[in-house]
Amino acid sequence: MVKAIVGANWGDEGKGKITDMMAADADIIVRFQGGANAGHTIVNKYGKFALHTLPSGVFYDHTTSVIGNGVALNIPILFKEIEDLVSRGVPMPKLKISDRAQMVMPYHIDFDTYEEARLAGKSFGSTKSGIAPFYSDKYAKIGFQVSELFGDEAVLKDKIERVCAIKNVMLVHLYQKEPLQEKEIFDTLMEYKKVIAPYICDTSLYLWNALKDGKEILLEGQLGSLKDPDHGIYPMVTSSSTLAAYGAVGAGIPPYEIKKIVTVCKAYSSAVGAGAFVSEIFGEEGDELRRRGGDGGEYGATTGRPRRMGWFDAVASKYGCRIQGTTDVAFTVVDVLGYLDEIPICIGYEIDGEITTDFPTTSSLEKAKPVFEVLPGWKTEIRGIKKYEELPIECRRYIEFIEGKIGFPITMISNGPGRDDIIFR
Ligand code: GDP
Repeated sequence: MVKAIVGANWGDEGKGKITDMMAADADIIVRFQGGANAGHTIVNKYGKFALHTLPSGVFYDHTTSVIGNGVALNIPILFKEIEDLVSRGVPMPKLKISDRAQMVMPYHIDFDTYEEARLAGKSFGSTKSGIAPFYSDKYAKIGFQVSELFGDEAVLKDKIERVCAIKNVMLVHLYQKEPLQEKEIFDTLMEYKKVIAPYICDTSLYLWNALKDGKEILLEGQLGSLKDPDHGIYPMVTSSSTLAAYGAVGAGIPPYEIKKIVTVCKAYSSAVGAGAFVSEIFGEEGDELRRRGGDGGEYGATTGRPRRMGWFDAVASKYGCRIQGTTDVAFTVVDVLGYLDEIPICIGYEIDGEITTDFPTTSSLEKAKPVFEVLPGWKTEIRGIKKYEELPIECRRYIEFIEGKIGFPITMISNGPGRDDIIFR
């Protein structure tokens, strides 16, 4: 059976923790989109880790980690991540990398950095990991697929020449930088070939056979619904689809095999990068939630940037869950809210004098003002509680109120960063 674990919001919902927990009963965990631009923070018996490329199930002996064809594969970062894990006592991951994945090239990172600098105040808030230039090249058919490393060298050299001709016009004339050297690119690719050779296979065939053998497969999404290039807050989005449906494409499995879609939804809001954020809070109110949020504050796992903070947004989350095709909601970081006397929830958007609970496209979203309803807080620590009925009544009311607003069943409640901090309902 295939289960997808994806985000309902802007990312950083705690997908890594839920994946790490659900991986206990899984055989294979697959990354199917995105790259090293976002991170999952995981706290388990080996310590605290920020994963960027490896799937979050990598900490178990019994699981195989798959990097699917849909991923932006940054080879140096991937192997640095593996080294870091192994040096801290985690067993060497059983890893398979798709021969159809494409590679993030060093110049993708440069282009990302130069473009953000060129846009200056109008930038997208990119993590400068090369993701947008990478996916642009993939769809412009000038990306490098892993399989090309193992083909005819003359064909590869010819392609490098073609790619450099395009890239160098931009480098020299738009960004006033030095042109790329063909030989340097070829040598880099040959280095990559050496390190990844033992891990390459047709991962879609591997997954097809695993499904026939009745294996449990998890698809781990990166970022969340609102960063999806089609359904998110375009153009302040990421460059690959963040939706469970894309799991079929980015892993190469039949769409009908995805039976469970666990959408991870955070008990308050946080976002990184630019773009409309209707329930955003500022000043001391925002600072306090940021300080107390997540596991040790709401700061980016990849960049360390402070995240923007807001109250729970039922309009965005209802949409985020719907567009994922949610079967189950995992409601996370509920414990963090235990300090508040009262907790506002954004239940509607006021746009041009009208109130709506439907999430609009970006131009209307920019004008939306939040409509809040305030619920009483529970003013107590809820970490360590294992049964739903043992949660304070105000906490249960908060969860049930939100469940009613989003319209999808909250079947898991995460009340701490650890694997065992989970309440099933
Ligand atoms: P992801 O990208 O969706 O995996 O999310 P991140 O790892 O970037 O951010 C989630 C943060 O919240 C991490 O620091 C987690 O350790 C932490 N976290 C996850 N679930 C909980 C929870 O239920 N309670 C608390 N306090 N922290 C949590």
